[in-house]
Amino acid sequence: RAPRMPQPGETILGTSLVVGAGGKGANQAIAAARLGAEVHMVACVGADEFGRSARALLGREGVGIEHVRALDTEATGAALIIVDDVRAENMIVVAPGANRELTPEDVDAALECIAASDVVLMQLETALDTVAHAAAVARRCGARVVLNPAPAATLSPELLAMVDVLTPNETEAALLAEIGAPGPNAAEEAARVLLAQGCGAVVVTLGPAGALVADAAGMRRIAPFRVDAVDTTGAGDAFNGALSVALAEGKALDEACAFANAAAAISTTRPGTAASMPTRDEVGRLMGC
Ligand code: ADP
Repeated sequence: RAPRMPQPGETILGTSLVVGAGGKGANQAIAAARLGAEVHMVACVGADEFGRSARALLGREGVGIEHVRALDTEATGAALIIVDDVRAENMIVVAPGANRELTPEDVDAALECIAASDVVLMQLETALDTVAHAAAVARRCGARVVLNPAPAATLSPELLAMVDVLTPNETEAALLAEIGAPGPNAAEEAARVLLAQGCGAVVVTLGPAGALVADAAGMRRIAPFRVDAVDTTGAGDAFNGALSVALAEGKALDEACAFANAAAAISTTRPGTAASMPTRDEVGRLMGC
């Protein structure tokens, strides 16, 4: 945190430093594990302090880390986030480090684990060709493929055709569908475009407005849960982890999105990302069951 953003070449005194675990993959894995699923992570970290603490955290949360490889040659992926105290704006530099080194061979090394899985959930903080390979392997093994296209990147028609559920937020959906000036029905418009590009279903997360589901049966909005939000960072990760758990349990897509809306809503009521992920009991209480 700093009183303002520094100019190029300038050094300023900051207010405070917080070091926390993160990364979309780790947050989503922890969200799914807290909701009771058996979760295994396929990832790369560096053989450094951040890598050791990331593996330790995942292990404590019950996430299988036998396919989290530690590299001597790269640092653990990290992001430096400067938050302006006055305007609450941020500037972020992500150094992907070891994430860039996750290869199709790492995916193949986890083949048995993938074959035993109901759902393979992925994000775009790792190399695209590895994501595409994993989608193909998952498909072959009969696992559902859920892709959270964040941060947004251009996706090939081949990859989209292997995705069962694509889960962009509104910004990512507009970028992926190449909608220039998003209007009031931008989410619907983007979902229509992305569905036509070949994925099985598109779920656009709409922040406090819940989610939009689009599939062969048509389009419908899934109502949000009203909560007092204090920190929405990681809400998308909570949503993706929970959605995947519900799909793995055989729930229909709309029901799975309602469950994900509930889990994500709870995550906004407390600070942090991984730390804010809810338990199964908490989601059950909010849903009234
Ligand atoms: P991201 O965090 O990736 O930008 P969203 O902002 O769309 O994603 O939020 C993801 C999900 O979190 C939403 O679909 C919704 O279920 C939940 N959510 C986010 N903000 C709120 C809020 N203020 N109140 C209730 N639920 C929320």
